Amino acid sequence: MKRLIPQGEPPTHYRFSGLAALGLPHITTTRHFPGVSSPSEPTAPFTAQAQHALRAAGLDPARVSYARQVHGAEILQAPRGGGYAGAGDVLTTTERGVPLAIFTADCLAITLWDTIARVLAVAHVGWRGTVKGVTAAAVRAAVDAGARADQLHVAIAPSIGPCCYEIDEPVLQAFGRAYGRRAQAWLEPARDAHAMLDLWTANEALLADAGVDPRQIENPRLCTACHPDLLYSYRKGNRGRLVTVAALP
Ligand SMILES: [Zn+2]
Repeated sequence: MKRLIPQGEPPTHYRFSGLAALGLPHITTTRHFPGVSSPSEPTAPFTAQAQHALRAAGLDPARVSYARQVHGAEILQAPRGGGYAGAGDVLTTTERGVPLAIFTADCLAITLWDTIARVLAVAHVGWRGTVKGVTAAAVRAAVDAGARADQLHVAIAPSIGPCCYEIDEPVLQAFGRAYGRRAQAWLEPARDAHAMLDLWTANEALLADAGVDPRQIENPRLCTACHPDLLYSYRKGNRGRLVTVAALP
C-alpha cells in the first residue's frame, strides 16, 4: 500500500512511500515548509531556511536544478552540477546528487525514476501541459536519457483533484481536440457548459500509454484545494508554492 509519509508535525513535507522504500532522496512540501517562491533565474528560489530544510532531507541546495515553468512540453537537461536549466516543464538528469525541482500550486509535479538505468526526470503538468503532451514527453525524455519506460517508478505530488477542478468550455474543447472521445473518461459534466476535470486519471492513463507500468505509479490523490490549511492552491487564491525535489542517489 503506497502512501505519503508525513515529515514533521504539522508536516513540512512528505515522502512517497514507494520511492522512499527504493531509496530516492526526495520531498514534496506542504505550506509549512519554509521559504519557497516561484522559480526565476539565476538563483533558485529558496531562502536560507529552505536550504537548511533541503539539506536535512539529503538534497544539496547548492546543486538544485530548476526551470522557468511555462506550461509547455519542452524538455530540459539539468546543467552539470545543477542550476538554472532554462524555460521548460520537464527536467532530466543522470548525474547523482543533482536535485531536480518542480514548483506547483494545483498542477501535478510528476517524478519519474529508473532505478536500474539511474535516470531521473521531473515534470510540471497542468491542463495546458496535459493537452500539449508533456506527460508522454517526460517519459520520452527519461528514455532518451537511457531509461526503460517499463522500469520507471513514478509519483504524482499533491495537486488539484476532480473534486475541485472545474473547467470551462475553452478547456473542454482543448481536451476534445487533443484526445477526442477518450477525454470523456476524465471529465464529469458540471453546471452549464462546465466540467470537473480529473487530471490524475488522465495523467495515469497517459503515463500507461507511454509504457509506464501502472503498478509503478503512486498517486496519493491528495487534493490541494481540499486542504487549504496544509497545501497551496492557486485556485483557492494562494500565491505560495509547493515544491517537489528529487535527486539520484
Ligand atoms: Zn478537492
